[in-house]
Amino acid sequence: MVGFGWSMQGMREAMVLVFVAIWSSSKATSTWWRGDSDEAWDNCLSWRLGVEANNIRAWRTVPPECSAHVEAYMVRGQYQRDVALIVDTICAYIDSIDLSSDGLDAWILDVDDTCISNLFYYSGKRYGCEPFDPVGFKTWALSAKCSAIPDVLRLFVKLIAKGFKVFLVTGRDEDTLGQATIRNLHAQGFFAYHRLILRSGAYKGQSAIVYKSTVRKQLAEEGFRIWGNVGDQWSDLQGEYTGNRTFKLPNPMYNIP
Ligand SMILES: [Mg+2]
Repeated sequence: MVGFGWSMQGMREAMVLVFVAIWSSSKATSTWWRGDSDEAWDNCLSWRLGVEANNIRAWRTVPPECSAHVEAYMVRGQYQRDVALIVDTICAYIDSIDLSSDGLDAWILDVDDTCISNLFYYSGKRYGCEPFDPVGFKTWALSAKCSAIPDVLRLFVKLIAKGFKVFLVTGRDEDTLGQATIRNLHAQGFFAYHRLILRSGAYKGQSAIVYKSTVRKQLAEEGFRIWGNVGDQWSDLQGEYTGNRTFKLPNPMYNIP
C-alpha cells in the first residue's frame, strides 16, 4: 500500500509538472487558453494604448481588424468611464486653485469630441477605419446633431461656476461652420463661455499645433492665465503656451496632426 501511495503521489506530481511545462511553453509562444480572436482583440488594446500615450503617431486610420474593438470601447461604457475619471481628476485640480479677482483666470476646451461628440458620425465610418472625409464631416457638422459629452458638460458648468473664463478653441472653419457650431454648442448646454475661437482665414493651412499655439499665445498676451487645457487630440495640448496643466481625453477614432 505504501508503494501504491507513493506511486499515486508521484503520478500527481508528474501531472502537475506536465501541466506546468505545457502552461509555460504555451505562455511563451502563444495563448492556448484563449482563441486567436482574443489575441487580436488584445493587440487592438495595445494599439489603442499606444495611440493614447502618443507612442504611435501620424496614424491615419484605425487598423481594419480593430474596428469592432474601437466600437466596443466607444459604445459599451469604457470610453464614458475613462472620460468620467479624467473629469473627476480635473475637478480635484480645479478645487485646489484659488482664483484671482482680476478676471484673468482662464481655461481652454477643445470642441469636437471634447465638448460635443462626433461618435454618431464615426459610427458610419467604421469607427475610424475609413479615411477622413472632409466634405462628409462638414455636412455632418452643419447638421448640428453632435451631442454633448455629459462629463465634459459637467466640467464646463463647474468651470463657469468657479469663475474661470472658458475659451472654446476649435480648428473648425470659422466662415463655413461658425454659426452651426454656435447653434450646436448652445443646443447641448454650452452657454456662457467667454469666447469661441474658430479657425479664421489667417490660419488656414496651418497645423493644429501651430494654430492653437498662436491662439493661446494671443490669450496670454491679453493677460489670461491658462490654468487648464483639455482636448481629445495631442495637437490640442502640444506646442507653446499649453497651460499650467493639460488633460488628454481618449479618442481612438481619428488623429489630427
Ligand atoms: Mg477635438
